[in-house]
Amino acid sequence: MPTPSEGETEKDFVSRCMAKRKQANGRLRKWRAEHKEHCSEWWRKYRETGKPREAMRKYQASEKGKAVRAKYRFTPKYRETARKNWRDRERKLRQEVLERFGAKCAICGYDGDIRALEIDHINNNGNIERKKMRHSEILKRALEHSEEYQLLCANCNRIKEYGELIVYA
Ligand SMILES: [Zn+2]
Repeated sequence: MPTPSEGETEKDFVSRCMAKRKQANGRLRKWRAEHKEHCSEWWRKYRETGKPREAMRKYQASEKGKAVRAKYRFTPKYRETARKNWRDRERKLRQEVLERFGAKCAICGYDGDIRALEIDHINNNGNIERKKMRHSEILKRALEHSEEYQLLCANCNRIKEYGELIVYA
């Protein structure tokens, strides 16, 4: 612990400490920049232990974490950013799905408007999935198990969904 030297005011002492800390932080930052690979490897391994996630969960469940979250959660800026991040993630995910499956219907080949293309579970348990999974989760699963999914246009998807059942307009 540094101690104030003789004749040093408290204010001077504090600013001296701050400068020292800043210097140390700078050195650390520089070292990390020079050993990027080592650091990312370290982080990867550390993440695998589940400790950071655990710590995050613990903090979020603590009184302090809850208070901090409650304070920021409903500020307009937070909501705006959260909404934007969510939209970006969805758009990126959708784009990935379109690239993976080719942006056209697997049955009739429709490729007009991507808004009319839907992800379909080939083995017909889409309904069960929709009930317990969020849309983004289904898209993520489709990317991981692409052999189980296909892209269908809205028409082909409805026709497949109703199967033998005849529905008159
Ligand atoms: Zn189609």
